[in-house]
Amino acid sequence: MNSGAKKILFVASEAYPLVKTGGLGDVVYSLPHALHARGADVRLLLPGYRALLRQLDQVRILGWLDVRGAEGIVSVRILETRHPEYAFPLWVVDCPSLFDRPGNPYVGASGQDWPDNAERFAVFARVAALLGLDALDTGWQPEVVHTHDWQTGLVAAFLADQPARPKTVFTIHNLAYGGYFSHGDFVRLQLPSHWWSPESVEFHGGFSMLKAGIVYADAVTTVSPTYAAEICTPEFGFGLDGLLLSFKHKLHGILNGIDTKIWNPSTDKHLSAQYSSSRILPGKRRNKQSLIEHFLPQADDAAMQAPLLGQVGRLVEQKGIDWVLAAIPVLLAETNARFVLLGSGQTIYEQKLIRLAKQHPERVFVEIGYDELLAHQIEAGADMFMMPSRFEPCGLNQMYSLNYGTPPIVFKTGGLADTVVDADKTTLKDATANGFVFETPDVASFLNAIRRALALYQKPAQWRKLQQTGMRQSFDWADSAGHYLALYSTSISEDSHVIHTH
Ligand code: ADP
Repeated sequence: MNSGAKKILFVASEAYPLVKTGGLGDVVYSLPHALHARGADVRLLLPGYRALLRQLDQVRILGWLDVRGAEGIVSVRILETRHPEYAFPLWVVDCPSLFDRPGNPYVGASGQDWPDNAERFAVFARVAALLGLDALDTGWQPEVVHTHDWQTGLVAAFLADQPARPKTVFTIHNLAYGGYFSHGDFVRLQLPSHWWSPESVEFHGGFSMLKAGIVYADAVTTVSPTYAAEICTPEFGFGLDGLLLSFKHKLHGILNGIDTKIWNPSTDKHLSAQYSSSRILPGKRRNKQSLIEHFLPQADDAAMQAPLLGQVGRLVEQKGIDWVLAAIPVLLAETNARFVLLGSGQTIYEQKLIRLAKQHPERVFVEIGYDELLAHQIEAGADMFMMPSRFEPCGLNQMYSLNYGTPPIVFKTGGLADTVVDADKTTLKDATANGFVFETPDVASFLNAIRRALALYQKPAQWRKLQQTGMRQSFDWADSAGHYLALYSTSISEDSHVIHTH
């Protein structure tokens, strides 16, 4: 059917809507679909978590593989399945002892990493490498194995010295998570002893699966041009900046897109009213009203008049949640602004948010948890969106906000710097402004950016223009997919000559 199409094996630890903890899951859904739409022949390999297995029916056993685990040989079954949300087959590594357990892919109920994560993702990577070599003799041998984040970092390393191997591409979605494990794990997993060196996977007395991906993949990508440059500096490099700099010739920054089938205010079924850039106000008002009423039984006039600032995301320091927590009391005192926040993460931030909401039930609305529906409703119902991440590889929420007419307020970093144009005199005049950007990483600068946003909000015509600019911007995955296809098409030895996609 697709015999001439490029065969690409995607390997990842999460994928929307089956299992998702963050932006990685969105990309692993959208990018292969964009590639598929451009004629690529894709398979996606995922670990058989319980939450994922539950959602599958019509499973076919592709075969069995025995690979080394921490205590000896681990037998896994490879399942092939179709899923209504997926246009191509999914492959699942079914290994109950490692993956069939409740909860999160990476952490147990107590919030601690699963103690056997090294084994779980080493086994997953060994299996992925074998499938990259068509060890099951399915007749489908990928030309490219595209792996994502530390959980898949070892795949390129296992493949590196194999003859007639596929090209390997490793994408860093977040350098902060390095997949660090101990020397004991390295020994138990019987990883090749020549990997135990600073030029290979060793990292400060342990080893890093992320580092393995960087060292051994033929091409390394990250999810925005600015982040690609930032991670080569000590400030953003998490100790890997020197290494990344030395591999700069194979490092590419390709901006993520957003899935406009899922995130489009003119078709979004999660909203009380759909709206588009040519008629924003009535739709946004309806959404604002339902959003407020979700938390307060009746949205009175004062609530509807007051600017509503939203935030959705993981409650971790990276996302600047501590700045948000510091800014809210100041703004409560000095303005009539209200806040709506959805997220989960570190307990301390969850508790502080809950406390703030209790103290100001009419002005601070908080939901702790993961709620796809409410995330859409906040993007549509809020007037502006706070995303003061200290670093942000790409960020999806600011692009959703832009397309939903909810101007984002962001720190100038990574993908935020690549997508948000600060509203100043010049950019407002030439209609390139789409949000608010602050350049010094502290609360005072964040507050100033919010104050500028609140001031502009009082000027409806200018605000409308700002909204329209964002809503009319395209963050189409097709553009990114084109860059990835170009990268896949270079031969392994050509990589050092590939021009950076900036
Ligand atoms: P990251 O990948 O660092 O978490 P991104 O902005 O790239 O941040 O992507 C986050 C994705 O996860 C977005 O699709 C966002 O809507 C979603 N998300 C994060 N937290 C929540 C939550 N608590 N409820 C619903 N969706 C969430």
